[in-house]
Amino acid sequence: MFDYLIVGSGLYGAVCAREFTKKGKKCLVVEKRSHIGGNVYTEEIEGINVHKYGAHIFHTSNKEIWKYVNEYAEFNNYINSPVARYQNELYNLPFNMNTFTKLWNDVFTPKDAEERIEQERKQYYVENPKNLEEQAINLVGKTIFEKLIKGYTEKQWGKTCKELPSFIIKRLPVRFTFDNNYFNDKYQGIPEGGYTKIIEKLLEGCEVKLNCDYFEHKEELDKLAKKIIFTGAIDKYYNYCFGELEYRSVRFETEVLDIPNYQGNAVVNYTDRKTPYTRIIEHKHFEFGKQPKTVISKEYSSTWKLGDEPYYPVNDEKNNALYLKYKGLADEEKNVFFGGRLGQYKYYDMHMVIASALEFVNSQLN
Ligand code: FAD
Ligand code: UDP
Repeated sequence: MFDYLIVGSGLYGAVCAREFTKKGKKCLVVEKRSHIGGNVYTEEIEGINVHKYGAHIFHTSNKEIWKYVNEYAEFNNYINSPVARYQNELYNLPFNMNTFTKLWNDVFTPKDAEERIEQERKQYYVENPKNLEEQAINLVGKTIFEKLIKGYTEKQWGKTCKELPSFIIKRLPVRFTFDNNYFNDKYQGIPEGGYTKIIEKLLEGCEVKLNCDYFEHKEELDKLAKKIIFTGAIDKYYNYCFGELEYRSVRFETEVLDIPNYQGNAVVNYTDRKTPYTRIIEHKHFEFGKQPKTVISKEYSSTWKLGDEPYYPVNDEKNNALYLKYKGLADEEKNVFFGGRLGQYKYYDMHMVIASALEFVNSQLN
């Protein structure tokens, strides 16, 4: 008999497993994939830690969370500074003085940049931006929207920028300094040796069953534990009784190249509409690798349909309202708890998932 059955060995499940095990509780973790780690899983290829489910850069301003992850890995000093390729032009991201001076050859100072952007946005300015397009133009004006946002966003989400919620674009900083750091957070880095090692440590001392889809063995599994923590998709748990929530899926095309350096940066975003992928990741640059070969992954975003792997929740009004109906059912459960990006249908970053798992564990122990 177990105290907790944890469905999913991603960060949420693994943090719960660690914390409950530490307190003497017995945990069984079941994972439908052939490996642990969920989407932070990394696999070594040609001596390079490959982020198999997309680039994962750890960042947070929460000192406690930073201390927590540092107990399980040594983090390097990688700072994410993606480059955007728009047709035959290259720009630094996020939107900063390096971007502005390259876009406009009469912009040299922050004042020049602010004036230029002001000119660009005033004709389209909207008082209370209601969608991503209005929000983006308010923030950075029309040229940046057209070159660096529109194509990328429409590929990523499969919707026009007018149909998308404005919060998505607020994830990106806009700065009038020469600073290419993609995040504003105080702490940032990549775990040396890859994320899988963190998950291995978090899962020490509990039983883990791989290749085990909860839904295929629900009846027997439910009998094994007093409580269940479910980190898969909440709508699937309830058999889509209110209809399917919308997700974005991603396909990764990974290649090993017999050259030491393909693009000179870990992340290059392709912001035009025509290039079918959204970005190319060159994994070795996350760890300043000097290997003779290199591994790259192209990311293709697609509409999720039944049977696909869900990656991103689409947190617009319609889906948030539908999620609340599922949450209503979840709140009625006595011994089943829903957590993580899919269980709570939230565009969570890693640090948020850890914080939310720790909060849940505390609520159970107190
Ligand atoms: P998951 O990692 O999805 O884990 C859920 C696990 O449950 C999976 O292993 C799944 O196989 C398993 N599971 C589901 N259903 C079942 C079932 N029926 N039976 C058994 N097992 C099941 N965050 C950052 O902080 N920085 C980044 O740079 C970053 N980049 C990202 C890039 C991409 C492309 C994506 C998709 C996400 C990114 N994230 C990033 C977010 C990050 O991946 C998540 O915050 C985090 O991994 C979520 O952890 P989780 O445990 O909630 O979910
Ligand atoms: N975005 C963009 N151009 C870029 C990078 C991002 O327009 O070159 C927009 C896009 O809508 C994206 C959002 O900003 O979905 C958030 O980007 P982030 O890099 O945080 O996305 P994630 O890493 O979660 O895929």
